Amino acid sequence: MTRHERRAVACHEAGHVVMAVWYGLHVRDVTLRRSGEALGMVHAIPADDFGTSFCHRLIVNLSGLVAEAELTGKVRKEWWSLGAGRDIENVIALVRPLIRKNWLAIQAVAEALVVKKTLSGRQVEDLVRLAGSVTRLKGETGWLLSQTDRPR
Ligand SMILES: [Zn+2]
Repeated sequence: MTRHERRAVACHEAGHVVMAVWYGLHVRDVTLRRSGEALGMVHAIPADDFGTSFCHRLIVNLSGLVAEAELTGKVRKEWWSLGAGRDIENVIALVRPLIRKNWLAIQAVAEALVVKKTLSGRQVEDLVRLAGSVTRLKGETGWLLSQTDRPR
């Protein structure tokens, strides 16, 4: 696997796991270790079987694909060969805003995965929290700047 491909797989798994944390699934770990056909894997269980909606699970399952497409700027050809190209395009358009909103966290998890290969659920949660504070801080700084920029 090239460095570029490894980053794409890391981003794919990071997309799954960040959205899993976001929707309250209990993440045991995420790994880039190959398992059968899969190049990476997220081990997660719903914290409460009835607390995680079908819709949330659907988003978590699709988030790997969309995060990868967001990084590489393209959708892998194999997905098209499934004959569901239009469906996939629609799904990507639906999930993309969520991926963009969490992009900092996804990138942080992907970078850590490339280096460490496997992260515990706890490590993922810490990275998501950290990225969340950075995003908030950026927002506040932007607000402060816009306040000081205002003419008197
Ligand atoms: Zn996946």
